[in-house]
Amino acid sequence: MNNAVPEHWAPSASAPVAAGHIGWLLALPAAIALWFVPGRMSASVSRSTWAVTVFVHMASLWTAASLLAATVMLSTQQGLIDHLHATDLQPLDLLRIPSATLVSGLFMATENSGDIYAALGVILAIHGVTWLLGFLLMPFIAAGERGRRLYFRSVKLVLWSTTCLVPPAALVLLAHLADLDNLLDEVGLGPGFTKFAFVIAALAWWTNVVLRLGTRYAGPPEGPGWEPNVPRCNGCGYALTGLPLDGRCPECNHAVHASLPQTRQSPSWTQATRWSARPRAYIRTARAILRERDFFRTLAVYEAPQAATRFAICTCFVAGLVGALGSIPILVGEIRSYWVHEMVFSFGLTFVTIALALSLLCFVGLALMALRACRLGQLDPRPTTVATCYASVLLLGTMLLVTLCQWAAHVVSYLHLFPGSVYIRGWGPLPHQVIFGMVISLLPLAALIWGLVRLRRALTDVRYASA
Ligand SMILES: [Zn+2]
Repeated sequence: MNNAVPEHWAPSASAPVAAGHIGWLLALPAAIALWFVPGRMSASVSRSTWAVTVFVHMASLWTAASLLAATVMLSTQQGLIDHLHATDLQPLDLLRIPSATLVSGLFMATENSGDIYAALGVILAIHGVTWLLGFLLMPFIAAGERGRRLYFRSVKLVLWSTTCLVPPAALVLLAHLADLDNLLDEVGLGPGFTKFAFVIAALAWWTNVVLRLGTRYAGPPEGPGWEPNVPRCNGCGYALTGLPLDGRCPECNHAVHASLPQTRQSPSWTQATRWSARPRAYIRTARAILRERDFFRTLAVYEAPQAATRFAICTCFVAGLVGALGSIPILVGEIRSYWVHEMVFSFGLTFVTIALALSLLCFVGLALMALRACRLGQLDPRPTTVATCYASVLLLGTMLLVTLCQWAAHVVSYLHLFPGSVYIRGWGPLPHQVIFGMVISLLPLAALIWGLVRLRRALTDVRYASA
């Protein structure tokens, strides 16, 4: 019987880690530790009770809102500040003022029913976003548990991660106290743009924390990951149990040995644990994805899901950088009027912010793709998510073409290469430049469609993966 396919392969999920839950006493220290070591906190955070989770969430929202209220109060010089005599302030008062400002602000808001509705709207929006983010996060943190359990764990992690609102809110207050706005004005950075850059950076940090929070599973070993793993044909899903190893699938004639767990290997990216080794490993893996037709047919999809997520994040960063390169002609035109030392600051920060914003956008797009690929809870999300993460490299072609098209359009308009226009009945005159822009924008569109076709094939190749 050694030469026949066995009844089951080893379970696809690893054993859950042992972790204690976080009680009331440790809730606040844990919420702070989470900013620094989210990966290490992940198991105990997901084991904490809903009461503790909601308490940490509410406390974080309250603290962040208080700090922002204090900033608003200081900048408008209204409200409590008139009643405070700076000389009488004790250190404890300084801690109390933000909360007191928020309470008085809310109290003043009750005089106007419109403000109450606005406040209620904000609270509802925050909660709607929490439940939605829990949904988006699901594919990346799945450990093999059932969909329902996965969703609630995901929401719990998002609730815990709202503690990440506190440091940015504190920074906003500190920046105001240090009079950073004037300083930034001097180096040529408008306050509006700096705020945008700050929000983007905070979002990037939060994404990192919340993804790391999902890295360890400490729940019960129940769900598709621990159920008997029936050997299936990678081509059509036919159950292969009992067939000879050197035989072929009776349904689709696919070789049986091509569906064995040992044919699936992790890509070289997963072995690169040191930071210095990662760029080379990334390029090698990206090249394998683009060149080797059977990359996804031989990809191990259960072994290192977090490495796949890291790969996708790297791709999003590269895509963001490539996309930001497209904005350089516009940026150069904008900042020509500034002094040189202002230019360097403004240019650098604008470029980094655009790159980071595009990276975040790419990652959200990827999360939606991953959700679509696992058909919203019908399938175990792990194989399709890992495939989507590695297939993310196909996005780079589209991004590169978008950037090249922007540069080409800029060169064409700068050199007046296509003067004149063509008259189209019903539309009026259409400048040649616009027609040129429309024609070349078909290139990134074609690249996107090619990427989607490849992704679809990749998802088919991992659907019945055994390892
Ligand atoms: Zn088959």
